[in-house]
Amino acid sequence: MKLNINKKLKRIIIVSYRLPFSIIEENGKKILRQNTGGLVSAILGLSSKIQSMNSESFTSKIQWFGYSEHTKEEFDSVEGQSDSFDIFPVNIPSEINKNYYEGFCNDTIWPLFHYFPTITEFENSYYDDYKKANQIFYDTISPLILQGDYVWVHDYQLMLLPGMIREKFIDLSIGFFLHISFPSFEIFMLLHRQWREEIIEGLLGADLIGFHTNDYSRNFINSVSRIRGYEIKMHYVITKRRIVKVDTFPIGIDYDKFSNDAQSERTQNEIKEIRKYIPKSKLIFSVDRLDYTKGLLNRLIGYERFLEDYPEWKEKVVFNMVVVPSRDSIPRYQEMKKEIEAAVGRIQGKFSNLSWKPIVYQYKSLEYFELLALYSTSDVGMITPLRDGMNLVSKEYLACQNSNEGILILSEMAGASAELGEAILVNPNDANELAEAIHQALTMSPDEIRERVSRMRIRINKYNVFAWAFDFINQLTLIKEEHTMLEIKVMTEIIERQIIEKYKNSMKRIIFLDYDGTMVPFSAIPENATPGVNVLELIKKLSGDTNNEIVIISGRKRIFLDKWFSDCNVNLVAEHGLFMRRKGQDWELKKDIIIDKEIKQNISEIMEKYTDRCHGSFIEEKEAAVVWHFRNADPELAFVRSQELKSELFDMINYYSGLQLLEGNKVIEVKKAGFNKGTSVNDFIQNSDYDFILALGDDVTDEDMFQVLPDRAVSIKIGKTQTYAKYNIVFQELVHNFLEGLIKNG
Ligand code: UDP
Repeated sequence: MKLNINKKLKRIIIVSYRLPFSIIEENGKKILRQNTGGLVSAILGLSSKIQSMNSESFTSKIQWFGYSEHTKEEFDSVEGQSDSFDIFPVNIPSEINKNYYEGFCNDTIWPLFHYFPTITEFENSYYDDYKKANQIFYDTISPLILQGDYVWVHDYQLMLLPGMIREKFIDLSIGFFLHISFPSFEIFMLLHRQWREEIIEGLLGADLIGFHTNDYSRNFINSVSRIRGYEIKMHYVITKRRIVKVDTFPIGIDYDKFSNDAQSERTQNEIKEIRKYIPKSKLIFSVDRLDYTKGLLNRLIGYERFLEDYPEWKEKVVFNMVVVPSRDSIPRYQEMKKEIEAAVGRIQGKFSNLSWKPIVYQYKSLEYFELLALYSTSDVGMITPLRDGMNLVSKEYLACQNSNEGILILSEMAGASAELGEAILVNPNDANELAEAIHQALTMSPDEIRERVSRMRIRINKYNVFAWAFDFINQLTLIKEEHTMLEIKVMTEIIERQIIEKYKNSMKRIIFLDYDGTMVPFSAIPENATPGVNVLELIKKLSGDTNNEIVIISGRKRIFLDKWFSDCNVNLVAEHGLFMRRKGQDWELKKDIIIDKEIKQNISEIMEKYTDRCHGSFIEEKEAAVVWHFRNADPELAFVRSQELKSELFDMINYYSGLQLLEGNKVIEVKKAGFNKGTSVNDFIQNSDYDFILALGDDVTDEDMFQVLPDRAVSIKIGKTQTYAKYNIVFQELVHNFLEGLIKNG
């Protein structure tokens, strides 16, 4: 797809399932309301911040795409338009949305990614509609994408979208952030094969994939390597055509807002109200949505155990458990609510008296200032989910502890625990541990609480939600530079097109093709790595073009090259430049490069010692070189032996002089000095007027030819190691597509 060019400023496009804007009726008029969530304010602060830190220039208006039942026209026609956002509703038919959102998102991904495989639904129709809905998102967004845009896709509802966008917009900057946990491979692999493969590929459409914790990043990388087999280099995934960065960005909160508002008059008034009812007791507080991941029942059982084990706390402590209604029309949630309420009833019955009840249970949403008052006035925040991607409540609780007086009990299964190590960390499944933790919290000295809480507050203040959003987008803008830092220049489709264009416009071309590892994959036995019909046909097609001069430039012996390429109308170079055969002529041999028979014998003898001590390695004698191959040996042992052999061979080379040691791909070769693939390339291109020079090779020996090529030449390294070549094609199997592309378009 051809991109429209936005010549002026770069834009940030946010895509999330939920649109943080709604149309509401006020005084009979429809108006636009912007939600007050942390993400919206974080995104708002982004463009100006990046501009001040980075050379990139961004527009101040942000485009936000998200699901809505309202049309774009409806959004545009209501009052109260935002100066900061352009809003783009994505309309999904309700029958698709049901299977997509309630089905695949809430009944498949949500439980599975939170380690509840037994309640996970594996419905094909859910996944089909998940795909359709992602496609609808794509169809809505794609006509509006401009070159230079930064697209940031959010969360598990849109895991296929980055891949869909990437397919058409090959050079666009795309980021993805997962707001829930990413499970271990054993859990992720429970998804149907096609689903998990498509989800991984969908995510890998992004340039940067962010997770809350390092564990989730590692889990994802593990799944990528197990499911797709891609190479991993630190936290980069090397896909067939691109490098994807996987990194950790623990989301924060708007710390100042919570901290300042907690000290406001409204909050202080709310606190007075609360304390009227519990003047003397210690207050433990928790607030969560009604969800099986939140560990509500386990928490109650832990509290019950605490009351049993520490009877001295009777009448001195109250646990205010607030459960915010969520999805309670669904039977599973209704059932869970019943169980929670039964447990509350049981505990009240067991421990209450006329003047004291151990639990104040509320099933409701809290007003903002009421929430702040409860955070501020409680002595213990008890946040113990069984699994939680991050858990913002724990951070909000800490932000409200302006006098550092309330301590946090936090589940180690919450992503937040990775940053909040000074909290009392608990296993939420262990009632005894919960009981102990409550006791520890209630008896901890004020000094210790202050010390622990202030440390955590400094941390969450620093990496707040603004820092989080900035960090992510900033990293996204730096990705391309990082690729350079990785020192491999993956050949993208854009570069490929430029090369094809050059090829098309040239009349006199020379193409150097290495053989092993370039035209054919490596084989355990070199003799088996013969060119298949497709390789021969490809070479014939290339050499059939009268504008092309083809050179097969190899470390192989003459006899092998003769056998396979004698009727291909190509030039041949054997034994790394030692022998050369121009089209229709005989082999040229440089006489002084043959190694003396006795020396050859000595080299072989040294190598034999290592062959005996490294099972699977073997020696190959060429006309002018001796080679030790260790591709088939145990890699670790072979590495050690190759180092030993090298050191012994160096001594010998010094003694005889005029020899050189060459380290190739799983080979060590000794040959006469003074010639290499570079010298052969020079023989071909010196005093000639080629207007297109191309060289492909995978090995250290090919670096010699890359080095001597003139600047205007196109050089391509096969593989992902550092190189003198201009570009890398990461996988050998892509070489054929590349060459076919030249033939087709040339
Ligand atoms: N919250 C709310 N209504 C309430 C109580 C809390 O919206 O009545 C907010 C709370 O301030 C927090 C969010 O809900 O920002 C819960 O986020 P968390 O990450 O803790 O859990 P999630 O519900 O996203 O799984």
